[in-house]
Amino acid sequence: PYDVLVVGGGPAGASAAIYAARKGIRTGIVAERFGGQVMDTVGIENFISLKYTEGPKLAASLEEHVKEYNVDVMKLQKAKRLEKKELIEVELENGAVLRSKTVILSTGARWRNVGVPGEAEFKNKGVAYCPHCDGPLFIGKRVAVIGGGNSGIEAAIDLAGIVSHVTVLEFLPELKADAVLQERLYSLPNVTVHKNVQTKEITGTDKVNGITYIERDTGGEQHVELEGVFVQIGLVPNTDWLGEDIERTRMGEIVVNSHGSSSVPGVFAAGDCTNSPFKQIIISMGSGATAALGAFDYLIRN
Ligand code: FAD
Repeated sequence: PYDVLVVGGGPAGASAAIYAARKGIRTGIVAERFGGQVMDTVGIENFISLKYTEGPKLAASLEEHVKEYNVDVMKLQKAKRLEKKELIEVELENGAVLRSKTVILSTGARWRNVGVPGEAEFKNKGVAYCPHCDGPLFIGKRVAVIGGGNSGIEAAIDLAGIVSHVTVLEFLPELKADAVLQERLYSLPNVTVHKNVQTKEITGTDKVNGITYIERDTGGEQHVELEGVFVQIGLVPNTDWLGEDIERTRMGEIVVNSHGSSSVPGVFAAGDCTNSPFKQIIISMGSGATAALGAFDYLIRN
């Protein structure tokens, strides 16, 4: 059996595998797609110590770094079941069952898409999902934020400080964000909020040039000219394959303590699949390191 089996090959998983292997313990990593969300990213400007890099390049160096160590790398494999017996069993979709003393879950998350015409076409050409990452690309430009929950309104407030104008589009008749965020939002001079509207299309030619929405009470169609659209309707953790025994938040995020341990002893978690409040590459890597050291600490005590 493994001492540490990492499930997920994004920044959190790669970091966890390296930290575990450096303890000289038997380490494996299973990843459906090595690199994770980083593979979908073009420019990265906030990975500290690198002024600029690109997703596929960073993903390749993650893999290269992992392969410097004695780690069993199982790529293109998806885990479908985890069960704690004497050892922890992880079953893959191909039927193989891996056994390990500890497991680090780092299966990440995915942004929920609005699924309107133009969204997929203009991804990275004006359609963005992460204000911390891509906000500065729209300095002085006009943007829309789709979604009036906490993440949407936080994004709108954040963006209002760098872009020229923010249009917020919320499907429901009311914003769902906390009152204090709404107050802050409404105090800003360069924000317009449209509630009870349905996004119909993100328009553009080679990049985004506007957004079309429908007023749900009248059925009237409106078009706003702008350069960017931030989709903020939820980040879904890839945890639906896990059993009930691993405690999760209402959103499905694995609840971890300061050692990266989940509610099941021996099962650790790191990165975007956890209840970490901020989802970023550097944060995922830090939590991967924490989970690996947490798992090592658990191993020497059990
Ligand atoms: P992920 O990167 O999501 O990796 C999850 C891994 O788990 C993948 O290998 C996946 O294939 C695997 N996996 C999932 N389910 C299973 C399963 N059942 N079995 C086996 N493997 C599984 N952050 C920044 O800091 N700067 C940026 O500029 C930036 N830009 C971004 C741009 C875009 C378009 C997106 C989508 C995200 C961006 N982020 C950025 C966020 C950043 O990519 C994430 O915070 C980070 O990748 C999270 O790392 P992770 O390892 O937790 O998860």
